[in-house]
Amino acid sequence: MFTLPLSKLIDDQRLVLLADKVDRSQRLSFEDGLLLYETPDLTGLGVLADRARTKLHGKKTYFVQSRRMSYTNICCTRCQFCAFHASPGDQRGYVINAEDVIAELKKPQNQRICELHMVGGHHPKLKIDYFENLFRAIKGHFPYIHLKVFTMVEIDFYARSSKISVEEFLARCIAAGLESCPGGGAEIFDPDIRRQICAGKKDAEVWLDAARACHKKGIPTNCTMLYGHLENACHKVDHLLRLRQLQDESLALGHPGFLAYVPLAYQTEDNELNRAHKIPKTTGAQDLREIAVARLLLDNIPHIKAYWVMITPGLAQIALSYGADDLDGTVIEEEIAHLAGAKTPQGLTIEYLHRLVTEAGFEAIERDHLYRDRC
Ligand code: SF4
Repeated sequence: MFTLPLSKLIDDQRLVLLADKVDRSQRLSFEDGLLLYETPDLTGLGVLADRARTKLHGKKTYFVQSRRMSYTNICCTRCQFCAFHASPGDQRGYVINAEDVIAELKKPQNQRICELHMVGGHHPKLKIDYFENLFRAIKGHFPYIHLKVFTMVEIDFYARSSKISVEEFLARCIAAGLESCPGGGAEIFDPDIRRQICAGKKDAEVWLDAARACHKKGIPTNCTMLYGHLENACHKVDHLLRLRQLQDESLALGHPGFLAYVPLAYQTEDNELNRAHKIPKTTGAQDLREIAVARLLLDNIPHIKAYWVMITPGLAQIALSYGADDLDGTVIEEEIAHLAGAKTPQGLTIEYLHRLVTEAGFEAIERDHLYRDRC
């Protein structure tokens, strides 16, 4: 596969030893994870991650035509890192209704979307019936649009506020049209860091239990980690290995599990966390390392996303050589990252995504929600 021996492509010889594990599909340990974060040899790390990516996907690189929408920005949880939420009573607050969504989806720019990705704040007054009505109305008008809704913490929050179990909440949402979950809200599982960045959010177990419940109901999800704030390498390896462990569990039971992992770069503008800690934006090297480490540690999660909205399309293109095989998609009208300072465009065309992939030497595949070729 390579013209030069690995020892010439990788400077840090400790990584060459890990290459042997990767080639034999042997699982990397916690200590290996720390080494991946610690090595100064970023290009060597990329070679290793690309090796793992190629074994799984060859040159295939996926993207989807998707529309973002947030059903409400009103949130009583008030995470310190978040620039999106409005407190109840705030004039900036909104809740969308089914008519608004349908009118929006009828617009010409949304004609070819196959996936509607919705997340929102923790609105103290919304209950299960709001979501049932919303989903039924959307699916009634657009049965071909895949409904991908809720972070894991929203599922827990709205089940509790509706005074029903997570299982019942999911069963009713699925009956109304829910088909998968974007799976965000994991932030970082370490409790001390969690207290500093999202004190109002429930702990890691709540997130993992909600993901487990989705998988059990046959709902595939994604999983995420927010990096580039107060965390260190131990916190990140711990987070990734907890995701890997749950994926083992779900797959062993024949459940769909996590389809993709999405590392989310902390956006620094207009949020309490940055006002308190003055955290610099993540660098390209940091972003590429997160992609590469994830590809190597998460051996049981099929896809690793380079989320161009947060790291820029150019860097996402480079990330394809550092283990990523998914560029997310057109992502029309993203709100959450842009309010926190992301300077990327409001959507990319399908032609541009094609170009990003093919110019980098990969094979562009427009996918559906299950990574099936849509063309
Ligand atoms: S991240 Fe989500 S839960 Fe936290 S404040 Fe923002 S909208 Fe609310």
